[in-house]
Amino acid sequence: MKVEKYRVPSKGKVSLKDYDPGESDLFDGNKKDGAEALVKLNKQIETLQEQLYAEGKHKLLIVLQATDTGGKDGTIRAVFEGVNPQGVKVASFKVPTAVELAHDYLWRIHAHVPGKGEIVIFNRSHYEDVLAVRVHNLVPEKVWSKRYEHINEFERILTDEGTTILKFFLHIDQEEQAERLLARIDDPTKQWKFSPGDLEERKLWKDYEAAFEDMVNKTSTDYAPWYVVPSNKKWYRNLVIAQIVRDALEGFKMGYPQPAENLEQYRKLLLGMVKPKVKQASEADAAKITVETAE
Ligand code: AMP
Ligand code: MG
Repeated sequence: MKVEKYRVPSKGKVSLKDYDPGESDLFDGNKKDGAEALVKLNKQIETLQEQLYAEGKHKLLIVLQATDTGGKDGTIRAVFEGVNPQGVKVASFKVPTAVELAHDYLWRIHAHVPGKGEIVIFNRSHYEDVLAVRVHNLVPEKVWSKRYEHINEFERILTDEGTTILKFFLHIDQEEQAERLLARIDDPTKQWKFSPGDLEERKLWKDYEAAFEDMVNKTSTDYAPWYVVPSNKKWYRNLVIAQIVRDALEGFKMGYPQPAENLEQYRKLLLGMVKPKVKQASEADAAKITVETAE
């Protein structure tokens, strides 16, 4: 899939209206085919993540932003299915605590960026400080308007120091959100996810749209690009993101670290310490064959 289609160029201005949240154009197949393709990507990501961890060289930061019900949790579950939890961390950013608010807005963020050999997924992020904060006027415009530049510089520090950054805006439309909120109420196991506050936020849809549009336009850079991912169809969203993550990991051109020298010598040593299971098995097989031929 030519996923560059969803990458927001670093120069120029895109309009979110030009991105259809309901499309699945790059994939030639239905939902079932998509699920099969995802399993293959999951297996590749699993192996690549193991190499990333074993090599301990690269750092990958994945940022997820979306409106309520946009699918951030579902994406994390689906894209990283089967991956060893060792070496992958999720950092979720909620309404800041009093201590967090007493610091600059990047303070709580920086502490969670990936170290060598790690993948970190941000479930919401520093971008809330130009989204929720802007829409709710939590700080004056002259304060939040400077943050795009700060964020670009912050992400430049991270990438200059060896972090790879991928940012995904999960794009759904308002009707899809209403359906998802309704589905939460209708399913007793999902009711806990419904917050009446989500309906209040929904009233601010237009303001959020403007804030998301500014966010992707002002902070998609060559070194930390935004992707606007069509997300009405969950299977397609998962597929697009899994492919971009797989491609980024493949781009690291990793392998497994060099093994110790003289492995054969240690192998012989260890063989002397284990019961000869192989021999027992072949004896049993031989006995079986004898019985079979005797019959
Ligand atoms: P949820 O992800 O559904 O648990 O909700 C977390 C809430 O925290 C959302 O309403 C976010 O908008 C809000 N939030 C996250 N970060 C910030 C921030 N820096 N300032 C204000 N609200 C925030
Ligand atoms: Mg919520």
